[in-house]
Amino acid sequence: MPIDVNARHGLDDAPSGLVIVQELLNTTAPKPWEDTVDLLGRAEDAAEWLGREVSEAELAELREFRDSLRQLLHGDAHPPLRGSVRITVDEAGQASASALSGAGPAEELRGRVLNQILVAQARGDWTRLKLCAFEACDLAFFDLSRNRSGRWCSARCANRINLPKSRERRRVTGVVSGPEAC
Ligand SMILES: [Zn+2]
Repeated sequence: MPIDVNARHGLDDAPSGLVIVQELLNTTAPKPWEDTVDLLGRAEDAAEWLGREVSEAELAELREFRDSLRQLLHGDAHPPLRGSVRITVDEAGQASASALSGAGPAEELRGRVLNQILVAQARGDWTRLKLCAFEACDLAFFDLSRNRSGRWCSARCANRINLPKSRERRRVTGVVSGPEAC
C-alpha cells in the first residue's frame, strides 16, 4: 500500500498537483512528533513511498533536493536547486518541466516537483503552500484561508505556540490578584 505522507502527520493533501511538492517536504519526521519516520532516511522507506527502488546516492540527492525546497519556501533567494530537467514553454507562454529520458527516481521526482511549482505559479496558488511557523515542526501545508494568512500546519502547532503565552498571562494574573486575597 502506498504511504499517505501527509495523513501520517494528520494533514490534508494540497487540493492540486502541488500535493507532490507538499509530500516531498513532509517526508521528514519533525522532532515534536515522534511517531513518524523520515521517509528519506532509509532506501527501503523511500522505495515504498516512491514505488521504485532508490540507491543510497539517489537518496542523498532526494534529501538535498528536499532541503533546497525548504530553503525556497523559507524565502532563501538563491536555493541550490541543482540537477537537470527539461523546461519547455508552450505557445501561451506557460512553462513546464520534466525529467530527461532515462532519469533515475531523484531526477524524475525533481522534474515532477518543478513542473507543479511552475503550474501553481501560473495558476496563482503557489504562495498558498507554506511551511509551519512552529520551527520544530516545519511541515508543509496548503493555506486555504481567504486572505492567505495561515501560519500553522494545524491547531496542534498553533496551540503549542500560544500555550506558553497564556500560561504567562495566568502567572501574571496570579501575582496581581495575590495581595487582594490577603
Ligand atoms: Zn506544524
